[in-house]
Amino acid sequence: MVPVRSNPWKPDVAARPWKYIVLHHTATSTGNVDSIHAEHQKKKDKSGNPWLGIGYHFVIGNGNGMTDGAIEPTFRWRTQIQGAHAGSAEPDYNQLGIGICLVGNFENAPPTAAQQKSVQLLVQTLRQEYFIPLDQVVPHKEIRASATACPGKLFPLREIAQEYPAVLLGVDPDGVPVESLAGSLERTLR
Ligand SMILES: [Zn+2]
Repeated sequence: MVPVRSNPWKPDVAARPWKYIVLHHTATSTGNVDSIHAEHQKKKDKSGNPWLGIGYHFVIGNGNGMTDGAIEPTFRWRTQIQGAHAGSAEPDYNQLGIGICLVGNFENAPPTAAQQKSVQLLVQTLRQEYFIPLDQVVPHKEIRASATACPGKLFPLREIAQEYPAVLLGVDPDGVPVESLAGSLERTLR
């Protein structure tokens, strides 16, 4: 029997031809989509134009400012536009890279258990949906020209990016249905 794939994050508009997943941390102890959005609205691109707002496609909360493990898609995901999270050295990572940011500073402590489960689920689902190979799931620090620690030395990238057969069946590693973890796409997002 062919497993039924479940992707609760399927956008309503045509998908971009995603090639990469880029992982980030906020490097702060607290945060949510709103706070990051406000922060990013103050930024300007190379030509001096202000950013449209939050540069990531997804944010995963840590219990401070947003529910622990909650996955929130942003307006960039909803409308399938390029990200502003991967620097300008290699534009493909912004154009074709799905930016996922976890709230927290993983130089100091690893992501919470709920965050790890959620990011694993999200990465798995996106990898399956867009046929993104394991080696194209990258930490920010690998692609940035200038030095950054993002997403921190305690971010367990390999564990998160690898495949979990159960996710193919629409449940997380503990048997919880994907839909129940997805948060609602209907929620008003920036
Ligand atoms: Zn980053």
